[in-house]
Amino acid sequence: MVKIDTKSHPNLIGGEWKPPKDNTLKNHNPADYNEVVGLFPMATLEDIRSAIDSARSAFPGWARTPAPARGAILDKASQIISARLDEIATTLTREEGKTFVEAKGEVIRARDIFKYYGGEGWRYGGQVLPSSVNDELLYTRREPLGVVSIITPWNFPIAIPTWKIAPALVYGNTVVFKPAEDAPLTALMMVEALVEAGLPAGVVNFLTGDGELIGTEMTGNSNVNGVSFTGSHNTGSKIYQNAIKNMARVQLEMGGKNALVILKDANLELAVKLAITGGFGLTGQACTATSRVIVEEEIADAFVSALSKAAKNLNVGNGLESGVQMGPLVNHDQLEISQSYFALGKKEGAELLLGGEVDDHKGYFAQATIFDHVEPTMRIAREEIFGPVISVIRANGLNDAIEKTNAISFGLSAGVVTNNLKDAFAFANQVDAGVIKINEPTTGLALNAPFGGFKQSSANTFKEMGQAAMDFYTRTKTVYVNHG
Ligand code: ADP
Repeated sequence: MVKIDTKSHPNLIGGEWKPPKDNTLKNHNPADYNEVVGLFPMATLEDIRSAIDSARSAFPGWARTPAPARGAILDKASQIISARLDEIATTLTREEGKTFVEAKGEVIRARDIFKYYGGEGWRYGGQVLPSSVNDELLYTRREPLGVVSIITPWNFPIAIPTWKIAPALVYGNTVVFKPAEDAPLTALMMVEALVEAGLPAGVVNFLTGDGELIGTEMTGNSNVNGVSFTGSHNTGSKIYQNAIKNMARVQLEMGGKNALVILKDANLELAVKLAITGGFGLTGQACTATSRVIVEEEIADAFVSALSKAAKNLNVGNGLESGVQMGPLVNHDQLEISQSYFALGKKEGAELLLGGEVDDHKGYFAQATIFDHVEPTMRIAREEIFGPVISVIRANGLNDAIEKTNAISFGLSAGVVTNNLKDAFAFANQVDAGVIKINEPTTGLALNAPFGGFKQSSANTFKEMGQAAMDFYTRTKTVYVNHG
């Protein structure tokens, strides 16, 4: 393995580290945009095709490698990440902006995902079925798809690539991976861990550069059998159209406009805590972030005043400084998007309770922002903002709250705060979202449970994480054996 320079980082194609040539991609520290975190190659079309060819050539050997041996490499990668926890978390904060505590939690998650799928190499398998005739063995076997393209966003730059790449590998696929332009260094560190753990050449290829150029080839090339993507709805739609031409299998995770519903019997202190965690944790830049709080009228004033008080005290700043609770937005575009929704909320007639200002003299900082008296028809109640903005919508009773929760085109995550079991289960059963949280924040996922949204939040094809990932990353073959 070549020594990775701290400023100039390579791509990995066919087992060879390729440093940047003429063109370079720069990633910046969003808390201090004068600081360049790293320089990366702008991969060319030739590079991408060569990466796909390498993954294709490496596929038969990797698919034949016993699954426990594939899993052992993931387990080793988990140990390598564990030994570099603080270093990777610091890098993550520097390139993405989330606080060090949040970053460390994410790196720990990546470590644990590798460990989980390492064990999966010993566990997964097919089925033996009862046969309708004598002397016949009827069974299914799980086979890898082949070459899979993994395209990821910047908001969880190590956890999302890991929850896609680890199952892809353990089930025997080879990978072409493109991280987001804004946070490629943490992703590279994860790939380095795999290489150091003994992954054969060509099994994972890593490319940085222009999303449109690289992504179009990664999703439309006829040698690609599967595509897993997390990102915006617009890009996801393009990917779907492009991949389907070759009948490649596609999994898309896209936006959310997640609601936390607070019923009148709720513990208010808990409700405030959950709204703060879900709405302002990760600076609101999680697909599962709480961007709407739907609260029963009877307790709305008391809740809103407690929420504003708590949000006002949030310490916003550089995530590497101790005591900082909310980092910056990832880049200038995201800052402008939040800013445009601050203006839009006011224009639409919502009441700005808190925040609504940005501070971009050094980094991309936005204030924790709360709008009250938001109507479900307003755009701030329907569109994904991906920033620290909570829209409070008032409801009359459980049914109205459920109706308002469902009155959007997304269906990723939704939560309810209540001590009433009957209401909690009515909510869980009637809400149109792939993840339901009862007395928990809308954010935060278990690594061993299926994850995926409904409606426009996904392609409504396959879930990810846990053993659900096996359905996406394998195909099933049915074998009839007459041994009479
Ligand atoms: P975001 O707004 O979060 O950056 P995107 O959906 O644009 O969301 O980006 C998510 C990922 O998709 C990134 O890695 C990006 O480079 C990649 N990407 C952008 N355009 C395309 C495309 N046309 N095809 C495939 N991937 C793309």
